[in-house]
Amino acid sequence: MRKPIIAGNWKMNNTVAEGVVLTQEISNNFYRDYTEFVDVIICPPAVDLKAVKGVLEFDKRDIYVGAQNCYFEPSGAYTGEISVKMISDAGCDFCIVGHSERREIFGETNAMINDKVRALVEYQGKKMTPILCVGESLAVRESGDYIDYVTKQVEAALAGIDIFDADQLVIAYEPIWAIGTGRTATPEQAQEVCAAIRSCLANILGGAMAEKIRVLYGGSMNEGNVDSLLEQPDIDGGLIGGASLKASSFVNLVKAAVECQK
Ligand code: PEP
Repeated sequence: MRKPIIAGNWKMNNTVAEGVVLTQEISNNFYRDYTEFVDVIICPPAVDLKAVKGVLEFDKRDIYVGAQNCYFEPSGAYTGEISVKMISDAGCDFCIVGHSERREIFGETNAMINDKVRALVEYQGKKMTPILCVGESLAVRESGDYIDYVTKQVEAALAGIDIFDADQLVIAYEPIWAIGTGRTATPEQAQEVCAAIRSCLANILGGAMAEKIRVLYGGSMNEGNVDSLLEQPDIDGGLIGGASLKASSFVNLVKAAVECQK
């Protein structure tokens, strides 16, 4: 049985003060026993990380904090970049890698994403888990080649990286045409690709490991569609953008994941 994950990606929203208020609202509406059933992750902008972590620690909430990005080099002349050690030091246990906005707007290639996944998995400090995002554009979806496209993204991101433990990796299937558009993939569409990702993981890492790795869906997940998505056998939670910016909707998504475990 895989423990589901509900992860909120705030993207470039919320100053430190706003992030503290939102985290406090989430915390106030959060029952401590939720995290027995679901792993909850908040991914704020980098400058908010420490403050968000501080609120969660003060309130003794077992909610994880994740970064939205990192660079693969350990230190040096990389103006504007943030290392794995820095996000770890700020309190992160997870880091989103290869989000379609990073790929499309900032030109991240499969090779760079592979370097980032490696830097996170091989980090020598406390465990840092990449949330590896993959997903096809509308043009690829309409061409019919989306399974091949997405599984190639997974293969490229994991090339040459040893994964020994299923907790070292989370995958998020995020069809680009569903991100921030209000157009969610149907549960069947999402399940089809998440199952293909799991088969791809089985080919790379072996069936036993693939059965344990969490595969999330992301793309306009909300309170109205979460149940039917989480019912799918290969969908182990969600990476949530818009609906994570309001405490009540984010907590309701967590509750939905708790309910689906009971
Ligand atoms: C995302 O950006 O990861 C995402 C899924 O966004 P939204 O939920 O807003 O579609």
